[in-house]
Amino acid sequence: RAKESHRNQYEFFTPTMSVQASERHTIEQELRKAVERNELLLMYQPQLQFETGQITGVEALVRWLHPKRGLVSPTEFIPLAEETGIIIPLGEWVLRTACQQNKAWQDAGFAPMRVAVNLSAYQFKQANIVQVVADILHETGLHPAYLELEITESVAMQNAKQVIGTLEELKKLGIQVSIDDFGTGYSSLSYLRSFPIDRLKIDRSFVNDITSTQGETTIAASIIAMAQSLNLEVIAEGVETEVQFEFLKNKGCHEMQGYFFSKPLLKEDMTGRLASIQGVS
Ligand code: C2E
Ligand code: MG
Ligand code: MG
Ligand code: MG
Repeated sequence: RAKESHRNQYEFFTPTMSVQASERHTIEQELRKAVERNELLLMYQPQLQFETGQITGVEALVRWLHPKRGLVSPTEFIPLAEETGIIIPLGEWVLRTACQQNKAWQDAGFAPMRVAVNLSAYQFKQANIVQVVADILHETGLHPAYLELEITESVAMQNAKQVIGTLEELKKLGIQVSIDDFGTGYSSLSYLRSFPIDRLKIDRSFVNDITSTQGETTIAASIIAMAQSLNLEVIAEGVETEVQFEFLKNKGCHEMQGYFFSKPLLKEDMTGRLASIQGVS
């Protein structure tokens, strides 16, 4: 009992906390086993077209259902997974599960939509990443056009030549690619022009900046204009209010994702949502 409450003083793997080495080691071992023990789950957050209101995609977001600690956020374990290399099996599980689920929705008769999967920097840099994606598409039978990989702007900015090379190989598979958390990395228009990508995701912080008192000079509006000039699709993440929704719609943003429409959902709830909208069961 005393031991338990002592353990609970620690915030779960917050890197800035002086978590004891043994504690970290335990968590690392637990995380390593989490995949085999079926403790990971994906939630799905809908992405909507402003124009039609249709759900055009879902982002797959991983959680760890820890036997003692409950539902753990990816912001708490993805950094550790990256540091330890656990991200490789974990990331493959996410990719496979997301593709399987999207195929299952299509097989159930729902209108085809994309599933977006977050790729970590470490995963993206693996020499065999293209083969891994190709194998999982083959294995799950998902048509490549319905898979989107999200890489962050910071990953895209690391080694342009290498990143472009990998993206070109991925694009040859027929999948879609988006740049996540866009606007936080200060990459320029000319830099992005050479990237074989489909979509920019406006970082939540810039969406959050949109308020009723704000003028026309928001960063979100500049990103939308820039995306349009590059012929890229643009999606806003973290849309929470009607003011943000209307602003983005008026600026010509293509799609949105955020609590204003829906929080990330358990797969059963996502299925229910699709069924109630599309009338399939
Ligand atoms: P992200 O890829 O930028 O995902 C968007 C995050 O914003 C998600 O947090 C989502 O739940 C949250 N969000 C969506 N709409 C709203 C909103 O309207 N308001 C607010 N306040 N938040 C909103 P989540 O699920 O906690 O994921 C956090 C981050 O963890 C993700 O950011 C992504 O970088 C990472 N992550 C999640 N799943 C995976 C994964 O499978 N692999 C990797 N490598 N990273 C992942
Ligand atoms: Mg993302
Ligand atoms: Mg994002
Ligand atoms: Mg983000």
